[in-house]
Amino acid sequence: MSKKTTIETVHGVKQEISYSTNSMTHDEQERLLTLITRVVDWHHDRNLIEGSTDKDQTLKLLQELGELSDSVCKGKDISDDIGDMLVVMLNIVERNGLNLTKCLERAWSDIKDRKGKMVDGIFVKEGD
Ligand SMILES: [Mg+2]
Repeated sequence: MSKKTTIETVHGVKQEISYSTNSMTHDEQERLLTLITRVVDWHHDRNLIEGSTDKDQTLKLLQELGELSDSVCKGKDISDDIGDMLVVMLNIVERNGLNLTKCLERAWSDIKDRKGKMVDGIFVKEGD
């Protein structure tokens, strides 16, 4: 089950987000909302929205992806790498006037009816 809520940063930016209520406790949901707000405010306070570009942040995201890849390949903890990528993605989302809900809904709309499944490391589409 999915739940939606709207958060507002100290800069007056409203962000609608949705989250699963199946895998998160109420406390975890509240902490997530607080963290998203803090991260977006942090980007504004450090001039990383107006003072940066999508190209800059996309390159930063690739850097963080490289760190994730390194950790995965070495069997290290990936939580910091995932968090760093989310921070950068929130920057790109904020600068483009998007919100996580719309982005995830669009992606979900694209994939929800896809058939097929992973078999021995290869995604096999239905009918193949
Ligand atoms: Mg990092």
